[in-house]
Amino acid sequence: MRYVYCERCGHVSPKTRLERDLCTYCGSPAERIALDRPWQSYLSSAIVVIAIGVLLFGPIADGLQRTLVALATIAAAFALSAWSLRVSKARILRTIEMRKASGEGKA
Ligand SMILES: [Zn+2]
Repeated sequence: MRYVYCERCGHVSPKTRLERDLCTYCGSPAERIALDRPWQSYLSSAIVVIAIGVLLFGPIADGLQRTLVALATIAAAFALSAWSLRVSKARILRTIEMRKASGEGKA
């Protein structure tokens, strides 16, 4: 996952590796912003890997329990990705604001 920032409308768009750097909101060319993955993103991946391990090799034989584990995993991973998306967007907007502020300071 990477992010692009649109100068024209100020929208931050998450992009997959294969997508072009265009704003998803207005379609203008957008600038790619380098960003570290937040911990929520790593935790989300870790939870999915652990749950797959538990479901494949774990001691849970009961079908209902397996379903509940799978559903809980999906819910947790989804919530964490949404959270990581929100954190990343906030970081990008802060970066842009700081850059604008310093740019105006020079001019
Ligand atoms: Zn835009």
